[in-house]
Amino acid sequence: VQSRLPDIGTSIFAVMSKMALEHGAINLSQGFPDFALDDTIIHLVHRYMMEGNNQYAPMPGVPALRHIIAEVIMHTYGHKADPETGITVTAGATEGIFSCISAFINPGDEVILFDPAYDSYDPAIRLNGGIPVQINLRFPGFSIDWDEVKKKITPRTRMIMVNTPHNPSGAVLQEEDLQELERLALKHNLIVLSDEVYDRLIYDGIPHRSVLTRPGLAAQSVAIFSFGKTFHATGWKTGYVVAPENLTREIRKTHQFIVFAVNTPVQMALAEYMKNPDHYRNLGNFYQRKRDFFLEQIRGSSFEPLPCHGSYFQVVSYRNIASTGDVGMAETLTKKFKVAAIPVSVFYQDKTDNRLLRFCFAKKEETLAKAGEILKKI
Ligand code: PMP
Ligand code: GLN
Repeated sequence: VQSRLPDIGTSIFAVMSKMALEHGAINLSQGFPDFALDDTIIHLVHRYMMEGNNQYAPMPGVPALRHIIAEVIMHTYGHKADPETGITVTAGATEGIFSCISAFINPGDEVILFDPAYDSYDPAIRLNGGIPVQINLRFPGFSIDWDEVKKKITPRTRMIMVNTPHNPSGAVLQEEDLQELERLALKHNLIVLSDEVYDRLIYDGIPHRSVLTRPGLAAQSVAIFSFGKTFHATGWKTGYVVAPENLTREIRKTHQFIVFAVNTPVQMALAEYMKNPDHYRNLGNFYQRKRDFFLEQIRGSSFEPLPCHGSYFQVVSYRNIASTGDVGMAETLTKKFKVAAIPVSVFYQDKTDNRLLRFCFAKKEETLAKAGEILKKI
């Protein structure tokens, strides 16, 4: 067959997790927690299943869930999202991203995105006939060079994609970034796709700068969130998209033919569970302690950590250890030293290799300590 994505292989997350398993390595590659979730939510899913809620959910999501999301969004970002016309529950953020791109990108439309970028963005744009226009984030701070963005905007630019807190770097957008984003989006009539799946995983007292906090920006933005991150359940593949009514109408048209609707009992359980703010309020502190614990474990090693203000990833430089490319380094680390990590170059279209590896610290202390012991000896 003629491939529609001839240059794309299997996602790095699948590759590294499989390699970790095959070689008995501690898996700090793919981002997912290795600890149990709260029993309460598991019991809720069970209860809703036993009560017979096992058929299709409404296409845009279970109403109770959309209502509680609206309340939380209002409380957190001061943004009024209408549960009926502005919130859509999706099969993880991944489907939310794909549905939005399908809804808005016509063949030949340009989409600006920033590398290193989450791996699903570029294929989603191309499968819909769009043209990805990559701009590398500044190194080593991973901030956006807005002058570069202005140069790359053309009459065909339709969308700009941002991600804060950022995977893989853990960098976060500042208020000035949002101002620039808003100015450019309004001036050039662009749709902003803001991937905010790590909105609650933000550290050092920094507030999360959601596009929803600025009314002008929110009017042209789609903000994407993931319950997988917030409730330690990446396998549930449930997330949601917040967008103004005119955009939501279009997003639902594609969403309904990509998945139609999302897992019913999980949505009902999430709606009930979210009623208690204690279930998500302290997530930043929880993960900040994990970040700090991991940093503690690798202190004195030859790996140099880069600043991380959010997400559950810590990027480290290994330039004091080897000059091998990062893909080879990740493989050696997994197969020989038994700790798996993600090479950062795979997130760049131009394969920029700054000798960086990404470690996921969403793990039990015991796991992080064991990995630290190994990494200190390299
Ligand atoms: N965006 C980013 C930046 C991510 O890191 C991830 C997954 N970790 C996703 C989107 C996809 O989220 P989900 O698992 O909810 O589809
Ligand atoms: N988002 C997760 C990560 O960055 C992985 C998601 C996936 O496996 N597709 O590691």
